[in-house]
Amino acid sequence: MKLVTKFLLSSMLVAVCAGASAQDKVLNLYSARHYPTDEALYSDFTKATGIKINRVDADDAGILARLKAEGAASPADVILLVDAARLWRAEVDGLFLPIKSKVLEEAIPVNLRATPFDNGGTSWFGLSTRARVVVFDKLKYNKADFDSYEKLADPKFKGQLCIRSGSHPYNLSLFGSMYEHLGPQKIEAWLKGLVDNMARTPKGGDTDQIKAVAAGEYGVAVTNTYYLARLMRSSNQADKAVTEKIGVVFPNQSSWGTHLNIAGGAVAKHAKNPESAVKFLEYLASPSAQNHFANGNNEWPAAKGVSIDNPALKAMSGGSFKSELVPISAVGMNQVKVQQMLDRVGFK
Ligand code: FE
Repeated sequence: MKLVTKFLLSSMLVAVCAGASAQDKVLNLYSARHYPTDEALYSDFTKATGIKINRVDADDAGILARLKAEGAASPADVILLVDAARLWRAEVDGLFLPIKSKVLEEAIPVNLRATPFDNGGTSWFGLSTRARVVVFDKLKYNKADFDSYEKLADPKFKGQLCIRSGSHPYNLSLFGSMYEHLGPQKIEAWLKGLVDNMARTPKGGDTDQIKAVAAGEYGVAVTNTYYLARLMRSSNQADKAVTEKIGVVFPNQSSWGTHLNIAGGAVAKHAKNPESAVKFLEYLASPSAQNHFANGNNEWPAAKGVSIDNPALKAMSGGSFKSELVPISAVGMNQVKVQQMLDRVGFK
């Protein structure tokens, strides 16, 4: 009986796939990946499969808002977001379809993907990783001054800290993980310490913070690694000069490890082409696409066993570093509490 059911199901699946193949030739991608180098990644997929990528760009929040507003009428098939907590938020809001893929399950480590649903399937998979590190003015400080995130709040660095808005997803995720490590009292005191040490009201992106430190205006900044690697690999002499003036620390190597964020992918809840969407995500987890993330946008691979050759990533990390293993769901859940704390301590 079971065998018959299985056979019927598999022939139905084949039928679905065959019937869908004509309309599957275009895949609607909503992407928060704001990196021009991704273009080649998408065209390689089209070359290999004949499936065209129709891309809509927005930031994480914009994509989530759009998916909600469009509801069942959404043309989105596949979603790429650049922050773990946003992926978690979209999952909780029911915006994704469960993915069943042996390829993705084998390639992506358990801590870099959503917790599986009880009835099988995974909501989203991490596809690349980036660390949130500290850069400092080499003339004023050394690595030991900032070898933990906690030290950024030390009163001796008053007026020295450059950091982008606290409400930006990259910071909310860092703070959400710090909440897990420090607990509710200590994290609020730490955030207050950061505000007290701020060189200026938060403005600009991570690259602006790096440049302010390199200009000798302020002492220390927080950045995602790929922004720094971009400057290190730039052919522009001014960019190179910036990186020569600063030191880099991967914080908390002797405790829980440096905060890691992910960029990841999911299949949209109302995808018209779910099979192609999964195929696209599987392609992004392949060694060649993982190398593209590494070479194009200076991100570390999320897939297991992929080796990359990126001189900037190697130089800044010394080849390898310890990263934290905080559950993404906890980081996501903590964000509401963290945002309330930011308001209380006046972190803009
Ligand atoms: Fe970014």
